[in-house]
Amino acid sequence: MKLKTLIVEDESSLLELLKFNFIKDGFKVDTATDGEMALEKILNKAPDLLILDWMLPKLSGIELCRRIRKNKELKNLPIIMLTARGEEEDRLRGLETGADDYVTKPFSVNELMARVKAVLRRIRPMFTEEVLSYKGIVVDLVSHKVTRDSETLHLGPTEFNLLVFFMENIGRVFSREQLLNHVWKDEAYVEPRTVDVHIRRLRKSINNDVKEDFIRTVRSAGYCFGS
Ligand code: CA
Repeated sequence: MKLKTLIVEDESSLLELLKFNFIKDGFKVDTATDGEMALEKILNKAPDLLILDWMLPKLSGIELCRRIRKNKELKNLPIIMLTARGEEEDRLRGLETGADDYVTKPFSVNELMARVKAVLRRIRPMFTEEVLSYKGIVVDLVSHKVTRDSETLHLGPTEFNLLVFFMENIGRVFSREQLLNHVWKDEAYVEPRTVDVHIRRLRKSINNDVKEDFIRTVRSAGYCFGS
C-alpha cells in the first residue's frame, strides 16, 4: 500500500527534487507551496506523512506543526521538518512544536529518505510488515487471508482494503471523504454514502453479529477502528 506524502515547500526546484525521489521510493505524493494550502490539503486529504518546510508563505511550518498537534484527529501525523536554520535552539524548538524529526538544509536526499524511513518504522511499524494484527484479527497482506480468532473470514475487495487501512491507522478518525480518498483512491463518482454500505458489510464479515465491534461510528465525523 502506497503511503500518501504531502510535501510542503515553497522553493520549486527543491519541491520537484523531493517529489521525484519520494515517487521513486514508492510513495504517493501531493504537494503544497504555502502553509494555508498545506493545511487545507492536510484536512481534506489526510496524508500519512508530512514533509514540512519551516519558512513558508502565509502560515509558517512551525505554526502549522503546532496546529496539527493540537488537533486530536491529526496529532499522530508523522512530520519531518526541513529548515535552513541549523542552530541547536531552533532544532529543539522544532521538536518541541511536535515534529518527529528534522533535517537541516542543505541536506542530501538520501539523508532525508533515511530519516523518513526511521520515523515510519518508529511511528507506524505496520507499514514495514506483511501481517497486520489487532486483538485477534489477523490480515496477511501477501496472501490476502483474513482471520479472526483463527477462523477464516471472507471479505470483498473493498472491505479488505478498508480493513487494511483501518488496521494501519488504529485509533485515527476518518471522515467518509477521507476514506474515499484513501481506500477508493481514484475511482470516480463514488458517493460518500457508499462508504457506509461497505462499512456495514465489513462489520458483518468481521463481527459475525457476535464478536466485539472495533469499528466506531464517530458522530458527525466519520469512522475509527480500535481504541
Ligand atoms: Ca521555504
